[in-house]
Amino acid sequence: MRGRFKFNILLAMEYSVYITYKCNLRCSFCYVKKKISLYDTPTLTDEHIEQIIKYISTNKNGQKDRVMFFGGEPLIDYEIIKKFINKSGGLNLSYGIYTNGLLLNSVPLDFLKLLDIFLISIDGDKKAHEKYRGQTYKKIVGNIKKIKPKLDSLIIGRVTVTEETNIYKSVKSLINDVDAVHWRSLTNRSLMMQRNL
Ligand code: SF4
Repeated sequence: MRGRFKFNILLAMEYSVYITYKCNLRCSFCYVKKKISLYDTPTLTDEHIEQIIKYISTNKNGQKDRVMFFGGEPLIDYEIIKKFINKSGGLNLSYGIYTNGLLLNSVPLDFLKLLDIFLISIDGDKKAHEKYRGQTYKKIVGNIKKIKPKLDSLIIGRVTVTEETNIYKSVKSLINDVDAVHWRSLTNRSLMMQRNL
């Protein structure tokens, strides 16, 4: 019967907030590499935070929207993320982060507990990862092993796929340390495989 059903679709929003272009890595395929500087690159200012929160608050539709923090490496400026979360506390948001994982064991645990999702860049096995990201595999996996038991958050390994990537091998080497593996090609096509939790 025409007109009997009324569709009322309420979609939660996901906002990407770039905290900084600073980074403590120099991955060979990095698209922000030219903008990266540990010292000179401006980060999100208080004024930017106010503007973003105002934008989110005026677009709320009753759903639990999510804010994902990006960089560069956003954990370099984790205090700014903390400020953002504190200031947006009344908006019923969830929070997540894209990180290279190197600082996961250096920032306060109380701060990490504010985040519901971690997407950690780790390109499968040691050899594949270190070809583009330098000798960081052991440190990142070690950090994941240390923090994961202390958090209720979803921990996702984020694999950047190149022509040489063996996806089966990548997933197999990661899946025991994370809750899910998400992989994406450099052309930004992506897929995700989740472990049975
Ligand atoms: S960790 Fe990310 S932002 Fe940093 S150099 Fe690598 S790809 Fe670029």
